[in-house]
Amino acid sequence: MNAYEYTYDIAVIGGGPAGLAAAITAARGGRRVLLLEKNGFLGGNMTLGLPLLGFLDEHGARCIAGFGEELVTRLRARGAAYSHRFCPKHNSVTNIDAEQVKLLAIEMCREAGVDVLLHLETQHVDREGGRIRSVTLRGKCNKVTVCADLFIDCTGDGDLAYLAGCSYNKGRGANEELMPPTVMFTLEGVEIDKLLDHVAAHPEEMAASCASIDTKAGYDAAYFRADPNFVFVGMTALFTRLKTEGKCPVERGNMIIIHGLHPGQVYVNTSRLLHTDATDILDLTHAELEGHLQVGQLVDMFREHVPGFARCYVSSIAPNLGVRETRRFRGVKTLTVEEALSASVPEDSICLSGYKIDIHKDCETATLFQTVDKPFGVPWGCLVSAEVDNLLFAGRCISVDESVIGSTRVMPCCMATGQAAAVGALLALSHGQDPAKVNVKDIRAELLRQGAVLYQLSEN
Ligand SMILES: Cc1cc2nc3c(=O)[nH]c(=O)nc-3n(C[C@H](O)[C@H](O)[C@H](O)COP(=O)(O)OP(=O)(O)OC[C@H]3O[C@@H](n4cnc5c(N)ncnc54)[C@H](O)[C@@H]3O)c2cc1C
Repeated sequence: MNAYEYTYDIAVIGGGPAGLAAAITAARGGRRVLLLEKNGFLGGNMTLGLPLLGFLDEHGARCIAGFGEELVTRLRARGAAYSHRFCPKHNSVTNIDAEQVKLLAIEMCREAGVDVLLHLETQHVDREGGRIRSVTLRGKCNKVTVCADLFIDCTGDGDLAYLAGCSYNKGRGANEELMPPTVMFTLEGVEIDKLLDHVAAHPEEMAASCASIDTKAGYDAAYFRADPNFVFVGMTALFTRLKTEGKCPVERGNMIIIHGLHPGQVYVNTSRLLHTDATDILDLTHAELEGHLQVGQLVDMFREHVPGFARCYVSSIAPNLGVRETRRFRGVKTLTVEEALSASVPEDSICLSGYKIDIHKDCETATLFQTVDKPFGVPWGCLVSAEVDNLLFAGRCISVDESVIGSTRVMPCCMATGQAAAVGALLALSHGQDPAKVNVKDIRAELLRQGAVLYQLSEN
């Protein structure tokens, strides 16, 4: 077995939206940074075909910029992203080309001087009292041990923090109900105009499939026709009928499609794997297998019943199950839904989140959407482990309560926490301090200098 040992200033585990932002920002700050990723590519869930949600708030005002904005600008320069568009249902949508993200991620890491190792999954954490001394990862019968002054957990599931023995919560309520995952897939050959003609003639197809979904007026065929940068959530009447007839293969009340960057291309977010804990390998395997089968069944159903889909074909199935939720780790601070909904922006906020509280329930059809009227601040302490001195969290696994994750989990917010974690890590290293001791005013000043948004802006 090949065994490698490395020493870095900062090790970032997980190369999704949070990890890319963290590693690239940290390397730009002049530190030696190693990014470790279990897949054979970078980008995490940004490569599934999902739109970037949350750059704009409920009223169309800008609440995220910084690294995320740079990424979108660079994708746009290569025709691989639309601009931010106000959406009556999702606040804003920014559709991106899933494959181009993989290429840009490598380029940006190289430019910044991030060292990258792929095909490595975190296996063991060596702790010395309150600090992580080293992390061991394995892949292809190789062993890699990394010592670093600071570790940033960007694995989504918080695998590093879990192996370091940190406390966490999972899901909602006594049963720890988790949002169900989805196998994303891409269709080509879709005649989108036929779908839009159909919903223009049948507005009942756009009815919400669940009472808690709040959508502003104007989420209709005219909105979709005006600009291909849209996320379509609809066909409620059809799904209801097909379910009654036993012809709908998924436990959903509607279809979600994301218009791609190319004519006839849509990304489909409609499979649903109930009762899945994606940190359990048996559940994960079951969900991957069943999810793939759902893709075939859904495509058959779309071809037969959904206008515009008669000649569609599957051009790709996402390489990983799309996991919405698993562990949330205990930070120095845990942000609560009361604070979020009161639009609290404390002085130690390192980013804003203005996206709705969007919780997919682990039952047949329901999605719980709660309006976030004004963006709330995410405090620095949500990124700082309460139990391990040299560990930071960024992305989906940060320290928020079971409702707030419905807002902070979207990818622009994950990038914002990744960028902030790196800025805080750099300051900690330069002052010889632990992250918990860093002056948050200095983090905020540097984030503002890097173009991040820390106060709500009135224009986008
Ligand atoms: C079906 C679905 C629909 C969604 N819809 C949207 C949407 O429309 N818009 C939006 O903005 N957000 C959406 N989200 C949420 C968003 O995609 C995630 O919350 C976000 O990507 C989390 O970012 P992250 O960087 O924390 O984790 P991830 O994107 O999951 O990246 C984590 C990275 O870490 C790697 N990794 C994991 N474990 C290990 C390990 N042990 N060792 C090494 N590497 C590891 C993974 O391979 C991955 O590359 C959706 C999520 C899902 C699943």
